[in-house]
Amino acid sequence: MTQTEKVTETDVLVIGGGTGGYSTALRAAALGLRVVLVERDKVGGTCLHRGCIPSKAMLHAAELVDGITEARERWGVKATLESVDWSALVATRDDIVDRNHRGVTGHLAHAGVEVVHGSAELTGPRGVRIGGYGEVAARRGIVLATGSRPRTLPGLAADGRRVVTSDDALFAAGLPESVLVLGGGAIGVEYASLHRSMGARVTLVEAADRLVPLEDADVSRHLTRGLKRRGIDVRTGARLLEATVLEDGVRAAVRTPRGETRTVEADRLLVAVGRVPVTDGLGLAAAGLSTDERGHVVPADWDRLETSVPGIHVVGDLLPPPSLGLAHASFAEGLLVAETLAGLRPAPVDYAAVPRVTYSAPQTAAVGLSEAGARDAGHDVVVGTMPLTAVAKGTVHGQGGMVKVVAERDGRVLGVHLVGPHVSEMIAESQLIVGWDAEPSDVARHVHPHPTLSEAVGEAFLTLAGRGLHQRA
Ligand code: FAD
Repeated sequence: MTQTEKVTETDVLVIGGGTGGYSTALRAAALGLRVVLVERDKVGGTCLHRGCIPSKAMLHAAELVDGITEARERWGVKATLESVDWSALVATRDDIVDRNHRGVTGHLAHAGVEVVHGSAELTGPRGVRIGGYGEVAARRGIVLATGSRPRTLPGLAADGRRVVTSDDALFAAGLPESVLVLGGGAIGVEYASLHRSMGARVTLVEAADRLVPLEDADVSRHLTRGLKRRGIDVRTGARLLEATVLEDGVRAAVRTPRGETRTVEADRLLVAVGRVPVTDGLGLAAAGLSTDERGHVVPADWDRLETSVPGIHVVGDLLPPPSLGLAHASFAEGLLVAETLAGLRPAPVDYAAVPRVTYSAPQTAAVGLSEAGARDAGHDVVVGTMPLTAVAKGTVHGQGGMVKVVAERDGRVLGVHLVGPHVSEMIAESQLIVGWDAEPSDVARHVHPHPTLSEAVGEAFLTLAGRGLHQRA
């Protein structure tokens, strides 16, 4: 379609071309529906341009840098790190993003999705006005997929130079020599890890009493230990009282759990305290919709992700919990909504079985309930743990880490929690284990390849089933 052949009516109109929006559009088009996708920036959204992909590309480079230290100190490889050519690193990262952007754009074109560049505003329960384009009516439904942006703190405006968000940090001209990262969730931990690998002095401040506070307490403990071992100054239970922007950096006053005030100075303050949904200018009221107090659009029907206005659906970061603010959750939501609009009856998203990963060094990966969460939910809980170093491959890596399985006594597996190198690639079997309500003995029958880190997962289940090999009782 060219921009001159304007569409005035379609089956499905999707607002926002991030992972939630473009997955909805692709699936709806594959099911034979006419789809218009409106995007005011670039298709791919946060994940592709400012989130998952560029950050993981840089974390991959960070892992290579760490490997040089390990090669020298542990393996006798006479290697030294001369320097990191930041512009070359950024060029490779941007090339990866560009390739994926071209890929998504091509998929949408091939599927016959009509992508309109502009800002969309609801005019009613079935109508949308697109700036610079015109009005489009949607016969079957409208899908809200406008995503989220970084949250900032009152009185602490990001200036993009000294006080930065995850967006700014990505596009900065280089890495600072020192950084104070505020926020110990996945994004804060990943950026702290990345900066440390690249040689920066890093202080990581989290107000809760532990990092990744939504994860199992043992995950937080192992992660904190691993980050501290790498020289990151981790301060939990600590609150930022104030921050002053100086000519050459930032000076912050931090209240410790003991009530003392400490001064932290750094070249940059990276604020990673969560994200807020984007609904400004979206015209929710015109369609009879509003947001909750945190700005989310709450579905009236979670099984169909349909709002209180029939035919208006919502996916991705606009959703409140139990959705997770994760790209792969938004893919599942996009499939669900597209299939619903096509008249199918898809199964609801099983949020309890969606994996959660932090791509730091060490990594964390989890699915299902934490031990405390399982007990709070009233389960009679049994726990199996396994250090990664209890299997041979864990000693090859030599980086510690663990597997923890939470299960009902004589019942199904409720949660699996991993910390260590490459555990992001090991969580997939556990999402099936939790999603398919397997019991430890079901898993213990199956053999894991030797020598791999995944053996530790197998061993944790063997132990729970009373057949542990490498763990002493
Ligand atoms: P978005 O991707 O934010 O897309 C929304 C789109 O809507 C945007 O492109 C925007 O331009 C457009 N838009 C907004 N309003 C309008 C309008 N009125 N008209 C037209 N267009 C509009 N998730 C993971 O699963 N794994 C990870 O490793 C991971 N890492 C992350 C790292 C960082 C640093 C960040 C910030 C996020 C990360 N995430 C990760 C989260 C992931 O990026 C989000 O969950 C995902 O992008 C949400 O997709 P979405 O479609 O809801 O919204």
